[in-house]
Amino acid sequence: MKETKEFKTETKRLLDMMINSIYTHKEIFLRELISNASDAIDKRHYMSLTNTNIADSNYKILVEADKENRTLTITDNGVGMTEEELESHLGTIAKSGSKEFLEAVSKENTPEVDIIGQFGVGFYSAFMVAKRVDVLTKSVSDNTSHLFSSEGLESYTIEDSQKDDYGTKITLYLRDNTEDDNYDDYLDEYRIKELVKKYSDYVRYPIMTWVTKYDPKDENEDKDDENKEPKTHLELETINSMLPIWKKNKSEVTDEELNNFYKSKFMDYQDPITSIHVNVEGMLTYTALLFIPKKPFYDFYSDRNERGLQLYTKGVFILDKCKELIPEYLRFVKGLVDSSDLSLNISREMLQEDRAIKKIATNVEKKILAELSRMLKNDREKYLEFFKDYGINLKYGLYENYGEKKDLLKDLIIFNSYNTDKPITFSEYVEAMKEGQKDIYYAIGKNKEVVEKLPQMDLVKSKGYDVLILSDDVDEFMIQVLKNYNDHNFKSINSQDLDLIDEEESKKIDELKETKKSLLEKVKEALPGVKDVVLSKRLVDAPCCLASDGEISFEMERVLKQQHSEVKAERILELNPNHNVFNKLEEAYDNDKALGDKYARLLYTNALLQEGILPDDPKAFSEALCELLLK
Ligand code: ADP
Repeated sequence: MKETKEFKTETKRLLDMMINSIYTHKEIFLRELISNASDAIDKRHYMSLTNTNIADSNYKILVEADKENRTLTITDNGVGMTEEELESHLGTIAKSGSKEFLEAVSKENTPEVDIIGQFGVGFYSAFMVAKRVDVLTKSVSDNTSHLFSSEGLESYTIEDSQKDDYGTKITLYLRDNTEDDNYDDYLDEYRIKELVKKYSDYVRYPIMTWVTKYDPKDENEDKDDENKEPKTHLELETINSMLPIWKKNKSEVTDEELNNFYKSKFMDYQDPITSIHVNVEGMLTYTALLFIPKKPFYDFYSDRNERGLQLYTKGVFILDKCKELIPEYLRFVKGLVDSSDLSLNISREMLQEDRAIKKIATNVEKKILAELSRMLKNDREKYLEFFKDYGINLKYGLYENYGEKKDLLKDLIIFNSYNTDKPITFSEYVEAMKEGQKDIYYAIGKNKEVVEKLPQMDLVKSKGYDVLILSDDVDEFMIQVLKNYNDHNFKSINSQDLDLIDEEESKKIDELKETKKSLLEKVKEALPGVKDVVLSKRLVDAPCCLASDGEISFEMERVLKQQHSEVKAERILELNPNHNVFNKLEEAYDNDKALGDKYARLLYTNALLQEGILPDDPKAFSEALCELLLK
């Protein structure tokens, strides 16, 4: 019986996009179909380990062109699909990749050209080149055969059918040629070979196609007849090299091969920033191929993005995202691990406990960090690029678990700094320290321009000390976990005890503190939100500034507030006794306490604003300011 069914709305949209696609690399459809075929064979192979009835000794994928009828077929002897599977896998979009693709195109208005290649749009990509697609399939799970057929519009049909062998045969009825697209191209044997080489060379099963062979010259033929076409015949030939790249000797694999492998396997159109090829033999034998994508993948920041490396055992695919193989902070790394020391039947639950997996993971982490360290030393530009996109992950890695990994990571962190044009490491900061400088100074701010204007910078600048510029939310938390770097303490330019002025000056201010005691008390009384009011030992040009007391800084307060925490930094108002404003304040209090209080509040708000903190009562501030202006 032939049944006609409607595609689900989402599927329709995706199909519509495929049909109207102006994507310039429509050729990827072949990669997608071959990869599905290979997955299907993987599944059958894996199932046959426990069910020998469905085993096959001759797994292969066949690509055949029929020029006359303008069809291209891709045949595999994999698991096949049951009727339900046809419906749920091909009639609806089951896969998150396609869903996210739809979301991404509708959200960002990004030209599809930029992103199609990054998504596994899978089966539906066939409709970029075909006006009709038939899927004839026989499932190993119920022995039935079905034919699915669709013109990629509203609906598809499914009917019972006849097929001898397990597996799936997909027939593409190619679209008519247009000015821009010559679909006949995909029927050309050289083109097919080229595409298979380019995208599917490492598929582990033979991909075969009919290849033209020249007949040997016939002795009796008339040798003078040069115009005569040489005789040919067709032979079925395997066109992929099959040997997984990671099974080759490391010395035999070129960087270009690694990069091509990465691009075809992980569907990126750019070379990775770096590729790492690890070959370990001994107590534990395994190979790892690790890649850092040039740009984070489209779904990198999505919650649905799971970390993990692909896991193989003796060349047999086990699972796609084995998260036990890579720590969370390195989740941007793509790659795979193949080990001969794991059982084929390893389950997800067992992975967590598996000693071999743990060992491999530790080593993988070390290798990646060693490569980053090498890049930082030998290829600074590249490292800067890397850090721009992924540095934040390393920072979180350092911060997590109370700094468990800090010794592994601290030398990979870089910061912009006040005295330099390019980001530097802690160690470079320490090397460039001025004589007599003990601490590592840092300031919180988006960039140099912002930090430069902080009044707290005055003294540090005058000493010529460099200041690290912390611009990420996690930075200060990370610094706190680090505590110090090679015995140099970290000091925020915001902390009160900067200890930067010379002793004489310091003494003078201490003495002054006694004489101005009652003034400071009055100011404090006027400002209930303030823990203390002190004379500053670090301000040069500015009249006042805010300092935080205790563990929580203003930056942390801001970050915590975003996480709905009410924890606040303790506020200390510092007044610059050498500033004229200080004298004005004193004068005001001498004449009129209410006026003094007003000045005190204005100064405090002024200090708050410099820290990027909005006053609780902006209206009062505005009124006080106007009143002052009108005086
Ligand atoms: P993906 O392969 O990324 O999951 P597709 O849209 O390409 O997405 O395919 C959807 C599903 O259809 C696959 O997950 C698989 O279960 C099934 N499928 C596709 N092609 C085949 C095939 N040749 N043999 C068996 N199952 C297939």
